[in-house]
Amino acid sequence: MQNLKGKNILIGKEPGAGRLLVAIEGTQFNTAIGPANSVPATVSRCMPAQGTAHARISIDAGGNMLLTNLKPQNVTFVNGTRVLSKHIDSDTAIELGSDHFSVNMAAILATARRLVSPAIQVSQPPVTGASTPPVPGVPGIKVASKQGQSTFNIKPLEEIWMRYENEMERIQAKQKRTNTMRALQGVLSLGGIVFGSVMAMCGAPAVGILFSCAALVLGIVAFFLTKNDTSAEDRKLALERLEDTYLCPNPACRKSLPTKPYKWVERNYTSCSYCKSKFTH
Ligand SMILES: [Zn+2]
Repeated sequence: MQNLKGKNILIGKEPGAGRLLVAIEGTQFNTAIGPANSVPATVSRCMPAQGTAHARISIDAGGNMLLTNLKPQNVTFVNGTRVLSKHIDSDTAIELGSDHFSVNMAAILATARRLVSPAIQVSQPPVTGASTPPVPGVPGIKVASKQGQSTFNIKPLEEIWMRYENEMERIQAKQKRTNTMRALQGVLSLGGIVFGSVMAMCGAPAVGILFSCAALVLGIVAFFLTKNDTSAEDRKLALERLEDTYLCPNPACRKSLPTKPYKWVERNYTSCSYCKSKFTH
C-alpha cells in the first residue's frame, strides 16, 4: 500500500479488447487484467487519457480507500449494495455494472502497485491500453518514431463501419415498428370497444362482448410489445461497439479513429495522427 498512498486508481472496461483496465489517474501508467472480452458492456470504459472510467479508488495518506462511481449512468455495488461512494478494504466485494461484474480488489491493488513501482517501470514498461498509446518524450514508454513509419491496411475497418451502419438501420426500423404498434394500440382498443358496444346495443350481445374482449387483449399485447423500447440504449451500445473496434490498426497504437463513415476516414486519414503509421487501403 505504501507507494499507492495519495494515488487515484481508475478502473473500467478496456476499449477494444474488453479486459479490465487499471490506470493510475494523471499518469500514462495503465494495464489490463483478465481475459479478453471478459468485461460486460454494462461496465463503462476506462480511458485514462480522457480521465474517464467506471469507478475511481482514491487512497489517502493514511492508506484508506474510497471507491467512487464516476458516471451517473454507471452502477457500482459494494458488498451487494448499490453505492455512489463508499470506503472499502482490500477484501471488499465490489461489482461493476448492472451485470454485477465482480472485480478482485487484491488483484487491482497488486496491479496498481506494480504500475507505480519505478524499478518495474524501467525493466518492464506498462502495457498501454488502446486509450493511451506510446507518447513521445515520456520516460519509460516507447517512442512513437520507432514504429512510426510502419504501414497498415485500414480496409478491414470498412466492414466494421458497414456492420455499424446496418445495426443502426435495424434499430431505426425497430423503432418505426414500435411507433406503428403504439398508434395501432390506441385505435384497436378504442375502435374495438366502440364497435363491440354498438353490436351489443343492436341485439347481438355475444358478438359485442367478443369484440370488446378481443380489442382489450390486442391493446394489452400491443402495450407490452411497445413498453420496452430499448432503441436509445441499443444506439448507445452500437456506438460504443464501434468506438471499441474502429481503431488504428497498429497493434502498438490502437487509438480510436473518428466515428465517421469508412469512406471519409479513407479520404481524410492517410496516416495515424498519433503513432504516425501510414495507412493503405
Ligand atoms: Zn496509430
